[in-house]
Amino acid sequence: MRGLRLLIIGKQGSGKGTLCVQFAQHFGVPHISTGDAFRAAVAESSERGIRAKAFMESGQLVPDDLVMEIVDELFVRESLRERGFLFDGFPRTVHQADLLDATLAPEGVDAVIDLEVSTEVVVARLASRRVCSNPNCGAIYSLKSPPKSPWNCDLCGSPVVQRDDDREEMIRRRLDDYEAMTAPLVDRYEALGKLIRVDAALSPDEVFSRALAELLTRRLANETGEA
Ligand code: AMP
Repeated sequence: MRGLRLLIIGKQGSGKGTLCVQFAQHFGVPHISTGDAFRAAVAESSERGIRAKAFMESGQLVPDDLVMEIVDELFVRESLRERGFLFDGFPRTVHQADLLDATLAPEGVDAVIDLEVSTEVVVARLASRRVCSNPNCGAIYSLKSPPKSPWNCDLCGSPVVQRDDDREEMIRRRLDDYEAMTAPLVDRYEALGKLIRVDAALSPDEVFSRALAELLTRRLANETGEA
């Protein structure tokens, strides 16, 4: 039986990464963050990293063709069609969603979780967010919940830092792009009957249990985490 195919969408700072870590543990399905994949490519100075760097540094979306190169490669390398996936930060444009649907035709994705939260809440969260600088770890902290030994990651010991694109002027730009380019995906998946809205101003545990309850209601998962 194939694995669950889930998209997690929502503004920057809505908690997509945190929910994906919880779901990945629960369902045993790969968590794929295109942002993490690009940060790793930039850190390695690979050819794709070099092409993506300027866009990322200025808080802009990377062009769709470059995103799809990375995603197509992950589909093959990680057998995502069969194993399922939790996509975090992908798709981010209608064109990317069209290409993903074509890859997954005829069934498409099973569900799309939209983490809903106000701009004020995410601006405050992002300004306080700190992340592990090791691109293979990427653990998330905040000024309110720092690592045990400040400021080294609890999981891998690497320095915990503020992302360059989490500074206020960059945050505003990324949120404007979200409204213009990514928010239309909400209507798209709602029209397909695949959208699950969750209030992301709640605590991470509450968001997880509400999202899970919706998947159970739709019979996309069972209590044991099997898809
Ligand atoms: P994230 O960690 O998801 O906020 O992504 C960090 C940066 O990576 C974004 O600001 C974009 O520059 C780039 N990026 C990640 N995923 C995508 C995507 N699906 N489409 C375009 N750019 C992306």
